Amino acid sequence: ATPLAVASGLRDALERGVVVTNSALFESATAADTLVFDKTGTLTEGEMEVLAVDGDRDAVRKAAAVERLSEHPVAAAITAYADGLEDEDAVATPEAVRADGGVADPAVATEPTPPGDSTSSPLGPVEEFERHPGEGVSGRVDGDRVVVGTVDLVERLVGSVPDDLEATATKARERGRLPVVIGYDGRARAVAVVGDRARDEWRDVLEAVDDREVVVLTGDDESAAEEFRDHPAVDRVFAGVPPDGKVETVRRLSRGGVTAMIGDGTNDAPALAAADLGIALGNGTARAADAADAIVTDSDLRDVHTVFDLAAGTRRRIR
Ligand code: ADP
Ligand code: MG
Repeated sequence: ATPLAVASGLRDALERGVVVTNSALFESATAADTLVFDKTGTLTEGEMEVLAVDGDRDAVRKAAAVERLSEHPVAAAITAYADGLEDEDAVATPEAVRADGGVADPAVATEPTPPGDSTSSPLGPVEEFERHPGEGVSGRVDGDRVVVGTVDLVERLVGSVPDDLEATATKARERGRLPVVIGYDGRARAVAVVGDRARDEWRDVLEAVDDREVVVLTGDDESAAEEFRDHPAVDRVFAGVPPDGKVETVRRLSRGGVTAMIGDGTNDAPALAAADLGIALGNGTARAADAADAIVTDSDLRDVHTVFDLAAGTRRRIR
C-alpha cells in the first residue's frame, strides 16, 4: 500500500471538513453496498420548528406571548416563529405556506397583513398563565383568554374548531407532524404545524449514492418518514425503531454486506460503532470520534458523499 495515497486522502478530506479517524475507511467506503441514514438530525435539522401556519398571524403573536412562559419544545418553536414574523414585518409581506410546508396554496395561506398595518402593536403582559399538562397552555392577553395546544383542549376551553382548521390539523398529523391549535374569543383562530424540517440537501445526497442500497432508519412513526420513503433513491425505511433496535438493524444489514451508518455522533454512536463504516455528522464530540470512522464537522450532509468520493479516488491511487 502507498502511505502517500492515504495521507493525501486524509488531507483532502480535512480540507473539506471531514475528519477521518480510521484510514481503513477508504477501503470500507468503496466496498459499502448498503448506506443507512438516520432520519432525525441527519436527514432533518433535528429541531422542532413551525413549518406552516394556517390562520391569523395575530393569533400566532398572542400564542407566542403565552408560550414564552412555557419550557415545552413546542413553545420554543412557536416563540421563534413569532420572533421571525416581527422581523419579517419590519421588511416585507409574509410568504404564503401550505400546511405541509410545501409551495404556497392561497386556500390555506397565512393571511397577509393588510398594507398599512404591517407594524403590529405590542401585546400587553400575560395574566392568569396556566399549564394544561400534556395538552397545552393558556393565558390572558389583552383581554382574551388565549389557549394554545391540542384540538381537544381548545374545543373544551374556548369553543369550536372551524372545519378548515380541523382539516389542516388532521393533514398535519397524517404527515407525522404536530398541529398546535390557537383559540380565543369563542373559537379556534389558527393552527401552527410544528415539526422537524428536512435538510435542504438531503435529496442531492441520496441521489448521489443511489447506486447503493439506501436505507432510512428512524425511531419515529412511518408517517414521519413518508417524505423520504417516497423518494426513488430510498430502497427501504425502518420506522419505529428504538435506540437499541438501531444497533440490531445495523448488525443485521451488516451480515448481508458492507454497511455504512450515517448518523448523529452522540445519539447514534452505538449504531455508528456497530456498522462496518460509521460516518458521524456534527461537531466532533469525543463520543463521535470513538464510534465513527469519519466525522463531517460542518454538518453539511453533502460531505457524506464527499467521503465516498474521496475513498474512490484514494483507492485508485493506492492500487
Ligand atoms: P410528550 O410526552 O409527547 O412530549 P407532552 O405531554 O409534553 O408530550 O405534550 C403532549 C401534547 O400536548 C403535545 O404534543 C402538544 O400537542 C400539547 N402541548 C403540551 N405542551 C404544550 C405547549 N406548551 N404548547 C402547545 N401545546 C402543548
Ligand atoms: Mg413531554
